[in-house]
Amino acid sequence: MKSEVYYFTARTFSHEESLSKVKGPLALEKIGFNSKVNNGDKVVIKTHFGALENVRYLRPSYIRFLCDHVKAIGAVPYVAESCGWGAPEEVTGIHTEYSGRAAEDEYLETAKIHGFTKETMGAELLMLDGSVGANSIRHSFKGKRFNEVLVAGRLKEFDHMVVATHFKGHIGAGFGGAIKNLGIGCVSKGGKVQAHLGKKFEFNFDAPISDYEACLKICPTGALKEGSDGKLIRDEEKCKYCYMCKSVCKNNVIDTGSSTQEEFVVQMVDNAAGVVDYYGSDKIYFLNYVIDVTWQCDCTGGSDVPFVSDIGILSSKDPVAVDQCAVDLIHLSYMNPHSILGNIENISKEKPKEWFSFTPRFDSKKDKLDLNPSGKESKHWEIQLKAAEDIGLGFRDYNLIEVNIESKKES
Ligand code: SF4
Repeated sequence: MKSEVYYFTARTFSHEESLSKVKGPLALEKIGFNSKVNNGDKVVIKTHFGALENVRYLRPSYIRFLCDHVKAIGAVPYVAESCGWGAPEEVTGIHTEYSGRAAEDEYLETAKIHGFTKETMGAELLMLDGSVGANSIRHSFKGKRFNEVLVAGRLKEFDHMVVATHFKGHIGAGFGGAIKNLGIGCVSKGGKVQAHLGKKFEFNFDAPISDYEACLKICPTGALKEGSDGKLIRDEEKCKYCYMCKSVCKNNVIDTGSSTQEEFVVQMVDNAAGVVDYYGSDKIYFLNYVIDVTWQCDCTGGSDVPFVSDIGILSSKDPVAVDQCAVDLIHLSYMNPHSILGNIENISKEKPKEWFSFTPRFDSKKDKLDLNPSGKESKHWEIQLKAAEDIGLGFRDYNLIEVNIESKKES
């Protein structure tokens, strides 16, 4: 089966073709958004505000004009993200590549620095998994590796969701698009941890309570306490699987396991499919902004030079088709020789190639980033698409419909 994907080129010659004000809202309209949304409906626009030092995240005006469009059709827009993995920097005192996103107040401060505020959006900003990432719903779902997904708890407050994604590379997942925005972005903080590591969560209850001092202090739900024997007790009912106890554990008394790169991708896809199963595919609309295509994700402080030119906006009701289409269009593009791919010797810069097969990747065996200067080919990016189609999240096959704004006709 084929899904429909609408394509709006990044090329513009006048304000009438604006990528932000005109093409974004029209991309939504093309996939049936305007006719499905009723007066007064609450519409959440799920995007990514970018890690603190990142500069390739989506420009705020793309999202602002989506908010304006939602209002213009009589609905109420909200702009949302979810808390990042780990404990806030004010607790850990450690600044990392991924800083500034662990809790709502910390992330909204980063969002403000990046230009996303209630004033600039004309809409409320929120974390879908609550103030510290512990607001989640345990949704039963038969995935390839998971039987349960930690869906971000506030998602249920909204009648529709627009998944507005900056499409780019990702060192673990091969690329980051709509599927990742669902499987990492729409689950709780704990859902992100589980995607990366799996569901192992073991405590050394024989360890002295002093080893758990920091864990007890940070637990937001009171799930951890000292028993009458002086040993730790964890209340399974109260635990919201935020894993912040593990994040501050310096004594190695909590084991959350590990996953291979392939397991990570399949677990992320399980999460994505679980979110759609919970929320309903009829209420979700996907926009991929295929611009500023770097090899790094927005969740890191790194923002290298884009490795292909801007492509444009893709919209679809199918997260797999819209991601497959973005990958295909990137692979049909010429490489920027001033980007990371230009460092690879013996690779032709003269013709299009499967560029994601050459982008840097995380080597989980060596536990370090491989910038791939030797140009070793790997189809690691395809694991995500195959897993997503296998689990029924969507189709890799699609009809590409290019929309010509000037004539307002499809060509
Ligand atoms: S026990 Fe750990 S994972 Fe569970 S709620 Fe407390 S801090 Fe979060």
